[in-house]
Amino acid sequence: MSTHFETQAIRNQTERSQFSEHSTPLYLTSSFVFDDAEDMRASFAEEKEKNLYSRFSNPNTTEFVDKMVAMEGAESGYAFATGMAAIFSTFGALLNAGDHVVSCRSVFGSTHTLFTKYLPKWNIETSYFKVGEVAAIESLIQPNTKILYAETPTNPAVDILDLALLGTIAKKHNLLLVIDNCFATPYLQNPIKFGADIVIHSATKLIDGQGRVLGGVAVGKADLIREIYLFSRNTGPAMSPFNAWVLSKSLETLSIRVEKHCENALKVATFLEGNPNINVVKYPFLKSHPQYEIAKKQMRLGGNIVAFEVKGGVEAGRNFLNNIKMCSLSANLGDTRSIVTHPASTTHGKLSEADRLEVGISDGLVRVSVGLEHVSDIINDLKQALESI
Ligand SMILES: *Cc1c(COP(=O)(O)O)cnc(C)c1O
Repeated sequence: MSTHFETQAIRNQTERSQFSEHSTPLYLTSSFVFDDAEDMRASFAEEKEKNLYSRFSNPNTTEFVDKMVAMEGAESGYAFATGMAAIFSTFGALLNAGDHVVSCRSVFGSTHTLFTKYLPKWNIETSYFKVGEVAAIESLIQPNTKILYAETPTNPAVDILDLALLGTIAKKHNLLLVIDNCFATPYLQNPIKFGADIVIHSATKLIDGQGRVLGGVAVGKADLIREIYLFSRNTGPAMSPFNAWVLSKSLETLSIRVEKHCENALKVATFLEGNPNINVVKYPFLKSHPQYEIAKKQMRLGGNIVAFEVKGGVEAGRNFLNNIKMCSLSANLGDTRSIVTHPASTTHGKLSEADRLEVGISDGLVRVSVGLEHVSDIINDLKQALESI
């Protein structure tokens, strides 16, 4: 198999059936049959590689996972119903009661809820560092620290963490480095190259890219994925074959979609930078981004998320959203359709202003997931919405 990303995304294919189909069919089956008692015994004993039951594996999920493993340069992987299922199962499988996690404070909202509400049930505590304070990471490490966790770029403020630095710290202190690579996709960034042990994606976002299905995946070192697989096959967060079939097809166009998303996003960010109604624009590949040099070092392109702060706080942010005509007001991201959100009044509305600022969310912060419409239509929509806030 070629090692080229585009070829792996297309040609990593489940073996053809007796019908010689060109495109992989949908194996919508909950279980699989055995030739005889011995075949069944040997399959369950894992003496043969065989599909048994779709909670464990299925040809469609295997095809999707094989592609993701190749694209991330990993050894092995497992597919989940959602990104959160992938994150929770990774913690569930790799952490024991009394373990400790060090995480960046700017993580996806539900991930933060796992840290604050659910992991403490098993006596697992988390210590946080801020994006700009990576130097503090080592002081947070305790004898029982097991996982160093981060996402980059972060959601929604598109801050960048230095993956090589995280890799070095994890190695020095013998920690497992777990990276949520959702915003970058495997096309823009491969955390394993920088020392990550496990890479997680919400496939719901750019991997599907068309706003249709939910999905998640964890890829990484074979022994760790084995633990995650065993945890998952017994607790049941598996991806459905249908979603895997959709997502495997989506991967075939990931590279060209992401290229275009990034091209449009850079144009949108450049346009916004000059607008008088905006305080600050954040996009990893704008020179003004505080971690521009790191972004350039570890990402192929800047991604499709642009964050900016409209002048006038919460009210201006809400007005801006009300003025939007074409872009969607929606919670998703990474869709062909451009999506605009105002975190301070929605996803992060329950946080105090101080807590919001800690994760880089000012009251006027707007997040745009730049889609694949003609870029001048996206820019014109944002422009007219800014003119009348
Ligand atoms: C959406 C998202 C998740 C959660 O994924 P779901 O598929 O919605 O469960 C996790 N991390 C990041 C960075 C996300 O954007």
